[in-house]
Amino acid sequence: MYCVKCRAKKEVSETTKKVAKNGKPMLQSKCPDCSTGMTKFVAA
Ligand SMILES: [Zn+2]
Repeated sequence: MYCVKCRAKKEVSETTKKVAKNGKPMLQSKCPDCSTGMTKFVAA
């Protein structure tokens, strides 16, 4: 997962699968360093 605040890729242990309003699946997680919410769109 990529943290926009740290501008670095982070290894996160927990991710939550969600579906965006446009129907695209995505993963949500939290940066272990700055606690910023991270969102990553994934292939369907
Ligand atoms: Zn971060």
